[in-house]
Amino acid sequence: VSRLVDRDLPTPEAHALLDLTRQIARDELAPRAAAGEDAGRFPAEQVALLGRSGLLGLPYQQELGGGGQPYEVYLQVLEELASAWASVALTVSVHGLSCYPVAQYGTPEQRHRWLPTMLAGTSLGAYCLSEPQAGSDAAALSTRAEHGTGSYRLSGTKAWITHGGVADVYAVMARTGGDGARGISCFMVPAPSQGLSVAPPERKMGFTASPTAQMFLDGVEVAEDARVGAAGAGFGIAMSALDSGRLGIAAIAVGLAQAAMDEAVRYAKERHAFGQAVIDFQGLQFQLADMAAGVAAARALYLDAARRRDRGYPFSTAAAIAKLVATDTAMSVTTEAVGVLGGYGYVKDYPVERYLREAKVLQIVEGTNQIQRMVIGRALRTAR
Ligand SMILES: Cc1cc2nc3c(=O)[nH]c(=O)nc-3n(C[C@H](O)[C@H](O)[C@H](O)COP(=O)(O)OP(=O)(O)OC[C@H]3O[C@@H](n4cnc5c(N)ncnc54)[C@H](O)[C@@H]3O)c2cc1C
Repeated sequence: VSRLVDRDLPTPEAHALLDLTRQIARDELAPRAAAGEDAGRFPAEQVALLGRSGLLGLPYQQELGGGGQPYEVYLQVLEELASAWASVALTVSVHGLSCYPVAQYGTPEQRHRWLPTMLAGTSLGAYCLSEPQAGSDAAALSTRAEHGTGSYRLSGTKAWITHGGVADVYAVMARTGGDGARGISCFMVPAPSQGLSVAPPERKMGFTASPTAQMFLDGVEVAEDARVGAAGAGFGIAMSALDSGRLGIAAIAVGLAQAAMDEAVRYAKERHAFGQAVIDFQGLQFQLADMAAGVAAARALYLDAARRRDRGYPFSTAAAIAKLVATDTAMSVTTEAVGVLGGYGYVKDYPVERYLREAKVLQIVEGTNQIQRMVIGRALRTAR
């Protein structure tokens, strides 16, 4: 509604994809989002529909069933999904994150084993890095993978796992060597597996339809070839996955902020005070203008980073900047949107209070915004 600049898409195919996404978002996601979040139930049917529509493997290899799309197109699809139902967009993003280690670092055999079902959306993935005592300092993780003859045994506790309990396969970072980043390896662990169990979902303030849970590994045995990449390469794999994943979070943040904007503009046109629509007050218009400028700037940042990635340029710092700015923008725009609706913004009859609750966690996941600042600051230290 309030998008001031048209989408900038590279191909007719990308336009068709965005049209399909908008149609699914409008007809299948938006009407179910509020009730789905209230029920706190994972939207399995809607996720399956996205899988059938080819939207669960967009940036991955076509020969394995992916969409072969540039990252800039994939992220704009994510943004549209997030505008309609953020939990569903988060599922697409985290699933993509879990495909990344095998797609990027797996052997041809591993790719053919795991990716066709994951990219088709018939096998849902989760990404397991965080632990109760190791979040931002992920290199301090303590889950162990003991090497036996032809197999590994994994033991430890993972925390905050999106899709915990609903995933079919878990990409798990575990320690195969000594302390620090160099002792970590990456494993694909199928569910169910003997010794793998999941706690009841966390009771969160938002994204209630997206299950987040602790996961317990009690001597889970996997074959040696479940390890992706070299022994000790897991932390690098996990960080590389997060560079791309962060851009997904940025796109979701922009989608959420856009939805809040749209609702604020729509409401301000209808609501009357002092004999006129409140949007006619310049004080309110300036507030909406700042919101629109923030959303457009955040979108431009994630697109710039994605285009760098698509061209094969380094994009890690650009991704951190996009994640930082987009999620802070989502927080401020959703907060302002609640204000534009006055008292009605604070009640569940309108969606903006939910957008505000959802925006908060985007500043925390896939590296808190302090961690993004750390990434940016380190780049400044070494910049020429
Ligand atoms: C809904 C949800 C879904 C999630 N999904 C996943 C998932 O699928 N997979 C997964 O692996 N993890 C997931 N996470 C975990 C998430 O990535 C972590 O919560 C996040 O990395 C922060 O870790 P922490 O919670 O342990 O906070 P801590 O690391 O304990 O941080 C506490 C505070 O200290 C600050 N801080 C820490 N270190 C520094 C520093 N060096 N400089 C400045 N400030 C610092 C942090 O910014 C934060 O404000 C999820 C979390 C949530 C809430």
